[in-house]
Amino acid sequence: MEYLQDVLEKLKTKNNGEPEFLQAAYEVLTTLKPVIEKHPEFKQSALLERITEPERLISFRVSWIDDNGQVQVNRGYRVQFNGAIGPYKGGLRFHPSVNQSIMKFLAFEQCFKNALTGLPIGGGKGGSDFDPKGKSDNEIMRFCQSFMNELYRHIGQDVDVPAGDIGVGAREIGYLFGQYRKIRNAYEAGVLTGKGLEYGGSLARKEATGYGLIYFMREMLKANADTINGKTVIISGSGNVAIYACEKAQQYGAKVVAMSDSNGSIYDPEGIKLDVIKQIKEVERGRIKEYANRVKGAVYTEDKDTRSIWNIKADIALPCATQNEINLEDAKKLAANGVKAVGEGANMPTDLEAIEYFLKNGILLAPAKAANAGGVATSALEMSQNSMRYSWTFEEVDKKLDNIMSNIFAACDKAAKEYGMEKNYVAGANIAAFDKISKAMIAQGII
Ligand code: NDP
Repeated sequence: MEYLQDVLEKLKTKNNGEPEFLQAAYEVLTTLKPVIEKHPEFKQSALLERITEPERLISFRVSWIDDNGQVQVNRGYRVQFNGAIGPYKGGLRFHPSVNQSIMKFLAFEQCFKNALTGLPIGGGKGGSDFDPKGKSDNEIMRFCQSFMNELYRHIGQDVDVPAGDIGVGAREIGYLFGQYRKIRNAYEAGVLTGKGLEYGGSLARKEATGYGLIYFMREMLKANADTINGKTVIISGSGNVAIYACEKAQQYGAKVVAMSDSNGSIYDPEGIKLDVIKQIKEVERGRIKEYANRVKGAVYTEDKDTRSIWNIKADIALPCATQNEINLEDAKKLAANGVKAVGEGANMPTDLEAIEYFLKNGILLAPAKAANAGGVATSALEMSQNSMRYSWTFEEVDKKLDNIMSNIFAACDKAAKEYGMEKNYVAGANIAAFDKISKAMIAQGII
């Protein structure tokens, strides 16, 4: 596999200092080995080099004025990675850790995820190193407006359609949409997704990533003669994805005993009271520590990077916070504690060594690209509703989401079996997505 080795070497040299991007690219390319072996013509058309190079990477200054009259400067990004199968589509992340490497890894993964949904959307991602924590509403609004003052010239409902991600929820999408509308003097609802229901949002979008994760998990367990009902579950994070994964898991009869935020985790042996979490996180925008003050018997463990949660005994682990939150040591702890299945709600939460450990030790792994695709799939359904100027009911959207997730699982399962890697859904997801994108790229010529 000289060609693959050569591409990996060149990638390392070219993207030096971008560890997250290299990690994501390495994971995909190495699982594609059997496909590349079958297609020697890929080398001539430099397909792997092209698929790992963003079509466009935009970086820009975002200046804004804080409540004390002090001017602040942040860096904004939009990475338009691959538009072969549709307009670029992917969220915006506002978090101090945001840099070019993280933006590129997220955009690269997004291309594959979007292909798996079966919907016509290409891959992109964006964001800023702006930290929304502790900012007033007015500061958030001024930042979003300044961010959009540049972003608007790069997006459009047929060009590139951003949505939310870490630090970007309905409030931020509202401010971003308002500024876009003002600049453009046009009501182009499909330019952003994750909008409020009053102005073009879709029912069930808020719930979609978390619910979708559990639909995928249900299918994966079913294929392995098991169910969610009666299982003990731990979920890292307590944001959008974590909260709705918890809700659906509970509806399916699971007992969720732990959740976390970036300061620590809570353990509630009686099962998490989700209404308390929602009040703290969605209404008060507070810290998860509060849960232990309000619920008798719950224990809080302070911890810098959410890792304490992986010490808790469970059958299923759902990392729903951020990238690389499960390393080899955590994977071993999870296995020792009896975890049988891991579902990635966050993007790339499991590092390469931990993935290998899970696969070698028979722990079922639902990879992010497939398992958390429900969010972007429902965003695409929001775009469809905007185009039709019509809204589906919650039940209609949820049913479509369930169907999409079941189809994604079936596609991953089929591709893994086809290449002799049964139960390796990581490889299955990469191969199924690559098949679609590569065919579209080849059909469109060298561009
Ligand atoms: P939110 O901002 O709503 O929540 C993020 C949660 O993760 C919070 O509890 C946050 O804690 C915690 N967290 C974030 N960064 C870190 C960190 N560096 N270390 C420890 N904890 C951290 O984001 P989402 O729920 O939307 O996103 C979570 C993950 O899911 C991300 O990887 C995102 O890319 C992915 N995803 C999201 C989709 C969506 O539709 N929202 C779709 C597909 C994937 P704190 O509040 O303390 O920062």
